[in-house]
Amino acid sequence: MSWKVPLFDLRFDEKEFSAVNKVLKSGWLTMGEETKEFEREFSSYIGVKYALATSSCTAALHMANLALGIGVGDEVICPSLSFVATSNSIVYTGAKPVFADVVSLTDFNISPKEIERKITNKTKAIIIVHYAGYPCNMDEICAIVKKHDLFLIEDCAHAPGAEYKGQKVGTFGDIACFSFFSNKNLSTGEGGMVVTNNEELYEKLKLLRSHGMTTLTLDRHKGHAFSYDVVSLGFNYRIDEIRAAIGRVQLKKLDTNNKKRKELVDYYKERLSECEFISIPFKDYKERSSYHIFPILLDEKINRTQLMKYLRENGIQTSIHYRPIHQFSFYKDLEVGCSDLTYTEIIGKRELTLPLYPNMQYSQVDYVVNIFNNF
Ligand SMILES: *Cc1c(COP(=O)(O)O)cnc(C)c1O
Repeated sequence: MSWKVPLFDLRFDEKEFSAVNKVLKSGWLTMGEETKEFEREFSSYIGVKYALATSSCTAALHMANLALGIGVGDEVICPSLSFVATSNSIVYTGAKPVFADVVSLTDFNISPKEIERKITNKTKAIIIVHYAGYPCNMDEICAIVKKHDLFLIEDCAHAPGAEYKGQKVGTFGDIACFSFFSNKNLSTGEGGMVVTNNEELYEKLKLLRSHGMTTLTLDRHKGHAFSYDVVSLGFNYRIDEIRAAIGRVQLKKLDTNNKKRKELVDYYKERLSECEFISIPFKDYKERSSYHIFPILLDEKINRTQLMKYLRENGIQTSIHYRPIHQFSFYKDLEVGCSDLTYTEIIGKRELTLPLYPNMQYSQVDYVVNIFNNF
C-alpha cells in the first residue's frame, strides 16, 4: 500500500549511509568501539552514569526486571495502556503484572493514585511508561516509590529527550529502558538501551546482556583476555556495530527531530481546535514531551473503524495506541491484576493515532485534518 500520508516515515541521509559503510569496511561487526561510543554519548545525553546498548527495548526491560531480582511471587505494577512488551518483561521473570489505570481521559499516563491503591505486600517494583513522550508525574511517583520502598523502572520507549521539570526522563528510576525500533524517535531498525546510575546494577546488566560471561569478544580480540568465566545465567541481548553507528548519527539528530515533531503537533492542535468530535490529550501539558506519536480521543458517537477505513481510502495511515494489554487473549488466561481500568478501557476503544514524523509537511497535516473533517 502506498500511503499519501503514512503513520510514520523514516528518512536516513548520507550521514547514516557513511557511518554504516565505515563499519562494514572495518570488518568488525559485533559490539566494539562504535557500541562503546554510542553508550558513552547516550549516557551523557540522558545524564546517567551507565548505559548499555541492547538488541531491543524488550530485552532491556527483561534485563531490568532480572537485575532488580524480580521473579516468582513478586508483583509489579504497570500500565495496561502500553505496548505489550512492558508487561511481557514482567511475565518473563515469573512475576505477576498488576495493571493500574491512567490518570484521566486527558492524561494517558499511569495514575500515581492508582499505583498506590494497587500496592500489596508482594509489590516489588513499578514500571512506568511516559506515554507518547509526555513524562509521568515524577514528583508523585518518586514519593510513592520511596514511601513503599519499591524499585522503579522507566519504560522510556516513547521518550528519549523528554524532560520533567528540566530533568531528562530515564534518570528518575533505578533503571530506564529505551527503544530504537524503526518507528521510534531514535531509530536503528531494532535496538535499545538500558541505563542506570547504580554501578552494581550496571555490572549485573552487563552480565545479563552477554551470557553471564566475564569478558567480551572484543577484549579477547584486543589481547586483553584469553578466556572467560560464566558467572550467572545470561542472554544474547547484544547490539551490533552497524546499528550502534546508525544510533550515534540518530542521537545527533534527536533534538532537532523532536523539535520538528513539536511544531507539527502544535500545528495539528491549532487546526483541530474547532473540531467538536474529538479531544486532544496532554493538550496543555507543561513538561517537555518528545512527541513520539499524536494521539487523539474520539467522541463516543464516532465509529473508529469506519473513520480509519475512510482515512485509509484517502491514503492516510492511522493506528491505535493502545488496545489495553489486559484485554488480549493471552493476558485474559494469565493471572494478572486487572481491576478498575475504566479510563484505560475507554481510551482503548476511542483513541486514534494520526500520522507524525519529523519530515512531515504542514500541507500533509492540512490534508489529514481536511479529510478528517470531511468524515
Ligand atoms: C516499542 C516499545 C517497546 C518495545 O521496544 P522494542 O525495542 O521494539 O523491543 C516497549 N515499550 C513501549 C512503550 C514501546 O512503545
